[in-house]
Amino acid sequence: SSKQPVTVIGLGPMGQAMARAFLDKGYRVTVWNRTASRADALVEQGAVRAGSVEEALAASELVVLSLTDYDAVHSLLEPAARALTGRVLVNLSSDTPEKTRAGARWVAEHGGVQLSGGVTVPPSGIGNPKSYTFYSGPRSAFEAHRPTLEALTGTDYRGEDPGLAALFYQIGMVMFWTSMLSYWQAIALADANGLTAADVLPHATETMATMPNFLSFYAQRIDAGEHGGDVDRLAMGMASVEHVLHTNADAGVDTALPAAVVELFRRGMKAGHAADSFSSLVELMKKPAA
Ligand code: NDP
Repeated sequence: SSKQPVTVIGLGPMGQAMARAFLDKGYRVTVWNRTASRADALVEQGAVRAGSVEEALAASELVVLSLTDYDAVHSLLEPAARALTGRVLVNLSSDTPEKTRAGARWVAEHGGVQLSGGVTVPPSGIGNPKSYTFYSGPRSAFEAHRPTLEALTGTDYRGEDPGLAALFYQIGMVMFWTSMLSYWQAIALADANGLTAADVLPHATETMATMPNFLSFYAQRIDAGEHGGDVDRLAMGMASVEHVLHTNADAGVDTALPAAVVELFRRGMKAGHAADSFSSLVELMKKPAA
């Protein structure tokens, strides 16, 4: 076919979904995984099994990496570093922006190019053009390979700095993990009161659905440095989050999460923000706790 060959290294749930998406779209796919058996089903579907990491790198100019983190990437590629010359490594392994930058420098030192990525969907979202992945790194490499990468998900190129894709990914993840923990807390509270997750689902969904309005309302004010107490006051919020904490404590469920929220509000009160909006907590959160 006219499509460029691709290599996928790392066949966890994500790498498998990616290799499958390439196969489904008619790409010639070479795969490698530390635990070789994870490639079996893909080989049955037409993928080529590389006998070594070197072989996997040699098979295609474009190499997609889907490993647990950059330490795994390093331990795998270091012994095969000579084979990196002329390769474009699309590293879709998650890690910090700093690790991503160091990884990009290391690949460049070995004559390759790294495009960093942050996948925003679970494996079930791979192959869907409505899903998207953040990319960063050399624009020319991104543009050259964009059509192939779009076999996986839509693309959102953030810029040349290799850390940007990881940064945008982490911005999403800090919200994802804390939001989902807030949901588990709500379910624990419901459970203590004889309610199931299904019972509270409509209310939980409605509550989450109101969030975009809050995000855009406060984004404008925060960027303008406005934390006025005209709409909400931290002192009101303080009373509210204490009610939340006590409701959870009374129900006999774990209180680590609501207690952490109360602690942040307390620090805001101490810093003199009682009459300001609770958005003033952002100013506290811009620095490590004293
Ligand atoms: P897994 O952690 O399940 O897959 C890990 C892969 O890395 C496996 O192929 C594993 O090999 C390999 N690996 C781990 N450590 C080493 C090592 N030291 N040497 C060689 N190979 C190693 O992750 P997923 O497939 O779920 O995800 C891959 C990446 O995608 C992660 O960075 C994840 O954060 C990211 N991601 C995942 C999402 C998801 O929903 N799954 C969503 C968005 C991003 P082996 O099979 O031999 O163990």
